[in-house]
Amino acid sequence: MSNSNYYIELEEEYGAHNYHPLDVVIEKGEGVWVYDVDGNKYLDCLSAYSALNQGHNHPKIKEAMINQLDRLTLTSRAFRNDKLGLFYKKLSDMTGYEMSLPMNSGAEAVETAIKVARKWAYVTKKIPRYKAEIIVAEGNFHGRTTTIISFTTTEEYKYDFGPFTPGFPVVEYGSIEAIKAAINENTAAIMLEPLQGENGIILPPDGYLKAVAEICKENNILLIADEIQTGLGRTGALFASHHENVRPDITVIGKALSGGFYPVSAVLADKYILGLIQPGEHGSTFGGNPLAAAVGIAALEVIEEENLVEKAQKMGDYILEYLEEIPKKNIMDIRGKGLLIGVELKHELGGGTAFC
Ligand SMILES: *Cc1c(COP(=O)(O)O)cnc(C)c1O
Repeated sequence: MSNSNYYIELEEEYGAHNYHPLDVVIEKGEGVWVYDVDGNKYLDCLSAYSALNQGHNHPKIKEAMINQLDRLTLTSRAFRNDKLGLFYKKLSDMTGYEMSLPMNSGAEAVETAIKVARKWAYVTKKIPRYKAEIIVAEGNFHGRTTTIISFTTTEEYKYDFGPFTPGFPVVEYGSIEAIKAAINENTAAIMLEPLQGENGIILPPDGYLKAVAEICKENNILLIADEIQTGLGRTGALFASHHENVRPDITVIGKALSGGFYPVSAVLADKYILGLIQPGEHGSTFGGNPLAAAVGIAALEVIEEENLVEKAQKMGDYILEYLEEIPKKNIMDIRGKGLLIGVELKHELGGGTAFC
């Protein structure tokens, strides 16, 4: 019996079965490599869906985390701490947004973006109270909270979990016409992934995001980019929106914002949007804690210092070239941007898209 079986049985017996993982029990990771309890070594192509853009166990982020662990981990936001301001400044300097609002998981940051966009809709755009709509795309993935699954189009994510939150018209991903048809005077925002990750690395037609951004401008609608998976270098640009020279009004980040050490997410926007949030209206016990801030700063510095954005482009091109050489017998399609690449298997083999 391999060592793995013991751990697999524990998980199966005592844990909720909300995942169906591969039976690889990992005990150690370093850079792009992971090692299982039976001594096998694997190249981690999934990299926790972009949460490990800096690689497993990055020494610089680890050091920042340990240093902070020795000093202070949590104050709650009832007090200030000496790391949060530095984290805000780093986020602003690196992304060009005037402000940020830190949360923990990606879903929480998406929820925050939804709340902030609705606030802007009522206070600034003067949409009648509780009429604000946020247009989203078919095939979207924005997380797992009850509001977010209200507008998923993946049935298994939602069917036993209603009633659902209204206010989210769903349109075909990649279609400008569909967006135009869905807009009305109560449209507050359009929320999109610049490239759909969970849906199977789906790239919209060239120029799509640019055209959506223009429609948003013409109609006084906020563009929210969910860059939790595509952001922070993965696609060969700091943000995937940059491939089309788009600067969304709100950008949501998470995953690689901590390099895999700790849940850290954030909503990025300018003052005219994030400045609308008043004390008490939104919060999180752990959001913006000093440990998260220290880890976040280090994770961002690694992206800069190691030129991970350019590297993702170069390595992505290299891997795409290499993948092209694989016999096409079992492969339907290979697509991606930078190091966010999917290999779609032929559907008679069970289909699905493997990450690379
Ligand atoms: C992973 C992901 C989320 C949710 O993040 P969690 O940290 O799992 O809550 C939201 N949007 C996108 C695009 C993601 O890839």
